[in-house]
Amino acid sequence: MFLLGARDILALCAALEVSPSKKKGQNFVTDPGTVRRIAAAAGISPGDTVVEIGPGLGSLTLALLEQGCKVIAIEIDPRLAAALPVTVSQHGASSADLHVLTQDALEIAGVSDLDLPAGWAAPRQLVANLPYNVATPLLLHFLEVLPGLECALVMVQAEVAERWVAGVADAAYGAPSVKLAWWGSVKRAFKVGRNVFYPAPNVDSAVVDFRRLEVRQRLEEDLKLSPQGWTDETIETLRQEVFAAVNAAFSQRRKTLRQSLAGYAGSPDAAVALLEAASISPGLRAERLSVTDFTKIAAAKLYGTSDTKCPE
Ligand code: SAM
Repeated sequence: MFLLGARDILALCAALEVSPSKKKGQNFVTDPGTVRRIAAAAGISPGDTVVEIGPGLGSLTLALLEQGCKVIAIEIDPRLAAALPVTVSQHGASSADLHVLTQDALEIAGVSDLDLPAGWAAPRQLVANLPYNVATPLLLHFLEVLPGLECALVMVQAEVAERWVAGVADAAYGAPSVKLAWWGSVKRAFKVGRNVFYPAPNVDSAVVDFRRLEVRQRLEEDLKLSPQGWTDETIETLRQEVFAAVNAAFSQRRKTLRQSLAGYAGSPDAAVALLEAASISPGLRAERLSVTDFTKIAAAKLYGTSDTKCPE
């Protein structure tokens, strides 16, 4: 199999009359070494099904197919989506291992929307060079709608990677850090320079490795809850409440929680009562709270106590 180099990318853009769109985050990788490194780091086994968001001209798709997996490629740009099976066949891969969906990946609402070909397993891995302007919503959305997704190896803007991996009190710690921590653990894999893209972006890039953790187990360990009896729906209600608290607290991150959570709780006094029920000082700011702290606040709001038993 031969991968796409700079000449191929330019030739494909000319043939398809594509001038890369900034709005769609179209920066195509022109370096086979970079996409091979990403595909290798994903730890794919032959026969796996991998989902790729934004395959573009096929740079990473070819490197994934080279690993012997099947690829579900979701591309918003119809010109690129239509050309992908042709490019794959012309470069020595089998288009039978490729399933292209021409749509906005944010509109995928569940595994049935992937329209899996007969015999294909649901994907356990997401591997992608994400469109940088919507990288965080895309990853969070896929974790929510595809519960079978166990891990993600994705390239994003370096600054976004910093936010994803930041820990409590780090300068880059914010809502994305807490929300990803709800779903699992995330770490930096490696950096990527600007010169491996066409067009070159004006930001640096980094590859991030995300692993999903069992939420029930975390609730049990972190909060000393007994969540075995909790249904998926109860945990989803708790997650939505956690994310609402996170959004409220970080939307006024310079203010103390007493103030920033006033709207969320109903009033400054209600915010203080909620924080006291969760054993968190109302004088702290959002950047000092871990995902466990936010879960205690959400549990106190939903159930009146953070010492939560299985809810009625
Ligand atoms: N994977 C290719 C590569 O590495 O060369 C292209 C990556 S480029 C950074 C991002 C790709 O995502 C573009 O092809 C763009 O059209 C596509 N895209 C942007 N927004 C999207 C969305 N909401 N859903 C699906 N694809 C999207």
